[in-house]
Amino acid sequence: MPKPRILIIEDERALADVLTYNLDKEGFEVSWAADGQDGVRKAQASPPEIIVLDLMLPIIEGYEVCRILRSDPKTQNIRILMLTARSEEVDEIVGFNMGADDYVTKPFKIKPLIHRIKALLRRNASGEQPRDVIQAHGIEIDRVNHLARADGDDLHLTPTEFRLLWTLARQPGRPFGRNELMDRCRGEDANALERTIDVHVRSLRQKLGFRGDLIETVRGVGYRFRAESPEMSEPLA
Ligand code: CA
Repeated sequence: MPKPRILIIEDERALADVLTYNLDKEGFEVSWAADGQDGVRKAQASPPEIIVLDLMLPIIEGYEVCRILRSDPKTQNIRILMLTARSEEVDEIVGFNMGADDYVTKPFKIKPLIHRIKALLRRNASGEQPRDVIQAHGIEIDRVNHLARADGDDLHLTPTEFRLLWTLARQPGRPFGRNELMDRCRGEDANALERTIDVHVRSLRQKLGFRGDLIETVRGVGYRFRAESPEMSEPLA
């Protein structure tokens, strides 16, 4: 099996060295970027499985790096673990709104951090559906043909509703913040997002009919697609 690849975007050299040393020992292929711009470039040039992303970075800050990666189809599925030192950023809601999959507060211990990274990697390997067609709860979403059906009947979604459903259903049980959904659903028709994400969700739920409650509201965060089984849902607290 090829080594899982991990990109560390961190401007503190000493910390990057410690991470590199330990992750290398754990069998990862590690690369390093010392600022946000270089980080984005490296992630786009050769997308790794996981990025460890510092929040406070030179040139482009961590949350902006996250936004850029999440809005680029080539990099949007990379697992991102955010490192943050600012206590006011240690807020789950902020983390999800920025589109990070997980976060760790500095200072941190190396062992638990590696544990979290491995958990993200497992999620990557097992939790995702094949690329182009999603089937769940009687719904079929075909990305290539831009078709969403319920029991074989076309749902007649708008492009934004389609992207919204695709994004949520691809990772059942994973909560998405409204800002992240905005970023991911923004297509060529940027105007469509002058309406809030809530309005699109309401309309999508209507079109899903009795299945509308598959799009669950996650209070204080945003929305998620119902997991196949309850234990697949990620804890929210
Ligand atoms: Ca920093």
